[in-house]
This record gives sequence, C-alpha cells and structure tokens, in this order.
Amino acid sequence: MVTIQNYINGEYLPPVADRWIANYDPSMGEVYGQIPNSGSEDVEKAYQAAKEAFPSWSNTTLEERSKILSKIAQIITERLPELAEAESKDNGKPLSLAKAIDIPRASSNFQFFANAITQFASEAHESVGLNAMNFTLRQPIGVVGCISPWNLPLYLFTWKIAPALAAGNCVVAKPSEVTPVTAYLLGEICNEAGLPKGVLNIVHGLGTTTGQAIVEHPDIKAISFTGGTKTGAHIASVAAPMFKKLSLELGGKNPNLIFADCNYEKMLATTVRSSFANQGQICLCGSRIFVESTIYEQFKSDFISAVSQLTVGHPFDSETNVGALVSKAHLEKVKSYIDNATEYGGRILYGGKEVLVENAENGYYLQPTVIEVEDNQCKLNQEEIFGPIVTLMPFDSEEEVLEMANDVSYGLSATIWTNNLNRTMRLTKQIQAGIVWVNTWLMRDLRTPFGGVKNSGVGREGGFEALRFFTEPKNICIKYD
Ligand code: NDP
Repeated sequence: MVTIQNYINGEYLPPVADRWIANYDPSMGEVYGQIPNSGSEDVEKAYQAAKEAFPSWSNTTLEERSKILSKIAQIITERLPELAEAESKDNGKPLSLAKAIDIPRASSNFQFFANAITQFASEAHESVGLNAMNFTLRQPIGVVGCISPWNLPLYLFTWKIAPALAAGNCVVAKPSEVTPVTAYLLGEICNEAGLPKGVLNIVHGLGTTTGQAIVEHPDIKAISFTGGTKTGAHIASVAAPMFKKLSLELGGKNPNLIFADCNYEKMLATTVRSSFANQGQICLCGSRIFVESTIYEQFKSDFISAVSQLTVGHPFDSETNVGALVSKAHLEKVKSYIDNATEYGGRILYGGKEVLVENAENGYYLQPTVIEVEDNQCKLNQEEIFGPIVTLMPFDSEEEVLEMANDVSYGLSATIWTNNLNRTMRLTKQIQAGIVWVNTWLMRDLRTPFGGVKNSGVGREGGFEALRFFTEPKNICIKYD
C-alpha cells in the first residue's frame, strides 16, 4: 500500500482530520494506496506556508530561480524510469507512453520556464513631448492555486507550477485525486533540488472539498485550472465575486478534417494516434473525424484495419498500444455512449466492447471504438466523451465541413489534412479553435500560446503567455523636467 501525504512547507504531512481516500490501480481494478482527503484546514496550512515563503522567493534572483527549476528538471529526467512506472500504474496509460511523453515533458516544462524567465521582459512607453516615461513592472501575484486533471498527471501539473514558480509566485497545488502519485513524488524532487520550503505546497483530496477550498480561499489571488468545462464554469462562479485572475483550460470536441488531396499514409497513421493515444483521454484528441466523400469508403476500411491492429493490454506490457481507462466511473461513462450509440444515431463500425486482459481481469479496458454518424448534431458529436471513441462522417465541400467543425460548443483544437495552401489559409483562419494543426497532430512548441475558445476555456498558457498570467502588470509613469 502506498500512502500519499500532503507536501506542505517542504515536509510530508498527513491530513489534519486524518481522513483518507482509496487510490486505485486501473490496470488491475484494485486499491493499492491511500491519499489524504484534505479539508480547508490543510489548504490553510499550505497557504500560510506559501505566504511565509513569498517575500523571499519573489526576491530571489532570476539566475537562482532558474538554477533551482533547472535542477528540478534534471532530477525528473534522472528519475524517469521510476516516475514513468508510477504514472502508468496510477493512470493506466501504457508505460511506453509515460516514458516517451509524460515524464520527459514534465522535465521540459521546468527546463523551459527556467530559461524563459531569464528572457521575460516588459514594455516601456515614452510619452513623447510630455517629458514622461512609462514602464510596465510585472510583479508576481503572491500565492496562486494550480488545479490539474488526471489524464496527463505530472505533465499538466508541472505545466502550471513551473511558470508560476518561475515568475516568483508561491503555489498551493492540487492534482486529481485519481492520479496523485507523481505529484507526491514531485515534493521529494523539489526538496532535493533546493526549492525553499513553502514555495510549492501540494495538497491532495477531492475536487469538491480540497479543490473548492483552494478556489474559495480569499487570499489565493489567481487560479490556473485544467479540467472539465462544467467544473471550470463552477470555479469561475466561485472565483468571479472575489475578482480572482483565472486561467481555464477546459474540454474539447475536436474536429479532424481530412481532404482527398492530403498525404494519405501520413494522415492515416497520425489519425490513429490522434484518436486513441492515451486511450483517447487527451483534451486534444480528434474525436470527430470528417472525411471528404471521394475517399470516405477507402478511409473507413483502412482506418478500421489500422485500429484493429492496436493491442489493448496491461500498461506495463511493451506490446500495449491502448492501456486501461483511468477509473471504473470513467469507464462506465464512456461505455454509456457505446450502449446508447444506436439511439444517438450512430452505427458502431469497430470495437465497443470491454476487453478482458489476462491476469488483469478486473482492469478497466475498452476496445478502441469507431462509430459512423450521419448528423453532426447528434450527442456523439456534440458531447465530450474523453475516451477511446471516435466518430466518422463524410463531407462534400469545404463550406460544409467548416460549418460542421464549428457547429459545437467547444473550440480547443482542430486538425486539417490537405496539401492545398489556399484551403489551408481559408480554413485555419475561419476555424473556431485555439490551436490548429495542419498535416500533423500534437506537435508542440512550448513558446506558443495554448488554450481554447468558446466552452474550451478562457486565457492561454504556454511561453510568455503563462508568465504574463502569473504576473500582475503595473504601470509606472515618471515625469521629469
Ligand atoms: P475535472 O473537471 O473533474 O477535474 C479537474 C480537477 O479539478 C481535478 O483535480 C478535480 O479534483 C478538480 N475539481 C473538481 N471539482 C472542483 C471544484 N469544485 N473546485 C476546485 N477543483 C475541483 O476534470 P477531469 O479530472 O475529469 O479531467 C478531464 C477533463 O479535463 C476533460 O474535460 C478534459 O477535456 C479536460 N482537459 C482539458 C485540457 C486543456 O488543456 N484544455 C487538458 C486536459 C484535460 P478531483 O478529480 O480530485 O475530484
């Protein structure tokens, strides 16, 4: 049994009220640890530690901050095998994926912001003819809250924490209660890297209690949240009357537009990945696949053939392409869309069944599932399922597919496959999304703005956008004679 503890003021502590929650291994469907069910008293302790640490941390030189963040990045890399194993066991994702993507990216997040903070600058405006000079002073906000989801646990947790710390803030953070282990290990890593006590505090527990206590805390002045749209709306309603700064990275229902003139082989291989990577539990997965009708039947057959070659299996098995879904509750939610697929107007072309994995019969495994739909307005195309399910639909014209791509409440990302430059320019301009990939998927440059429009969120993370979010700009106007 693994016992997770809160990381407050550089120490591991049990929750004040001694309440605990079971932690499941989704690959086996069994409890393998316990985590604190922290209350507002634990959040208060974390806040006090952060507040105490703030004057010194915010005055630490950029070189020193950068050195400590780089050291954290380095230790994450050194401990990659252990962290990847922990992530895979906690989340159900293939170990190969955790090793290749999740943990390296967690390290890159720290390294990137360790470098970025040394290059961050602000503007100066000379009021010509008035003998005045303005400059913008960007100061850290103080104590900020970071709340992250379970799908890319350490990856998304550090994506928020690294810029917050780089900008000179102190942090109270909460990972998802479903995947707490790597966040727990991050405390040790921060201590080893010499991060001063109280600069980062990690409180574990339920969203509705621990998370809520962070959002409600009157002196935690900014909240960076990644998670579901409904939770984001709730957080906004709690934070708005206190005028907190908010960054909300929410759900998606991303369109994948495939034109007959694309590089077919490259598109096919990437579309399998953009559909089912991480069991389809990536906010950027292309879950609505629209294919130009001239190649629709060909695509359908090739896609299903490629999907049928994916191996569903135990996350630690090196042959596994699709691991376990994160929890029983999530498996049930995803399955409900399959069970109701016909009623929703869909036709299951492939998959749709739970998979019994040898020696892991109680794990939460589901076949990658392909459903053909006729109407973009159906639930399967309008609601975020966040699992290994994609829908297919043909289209005849650029106008028609653009309309369908945009006819959804979300606007996180979109992928377009075409070799027509004019079409690329027309579509990328008109698609309602924060991120558009053309002839690729999930290619990330950490300098770029990251986030969504419509119900997919408010604000942008990444690069200097994140550093701007985690600082308060102050206009200084100096008049001279
Ligand atoms: P949730 O919204 O359920 O939870 C996200 C985090 O918020 C968790 O840590 C959760 O705690 C916490 N939380 C829940 N309720 C509250 C509350 N009232 N106050 C404060 N915190 C709260 O999302 P999931 O974890 O289920 O993650 C999946 C969702 O995340 C999907 O919709 C996906 O699209 C989205 N996502 C968006 C991304 C983006 O960049 N736009 C990237 C990745 C995912 P706990 O789980 O412990 O209860």
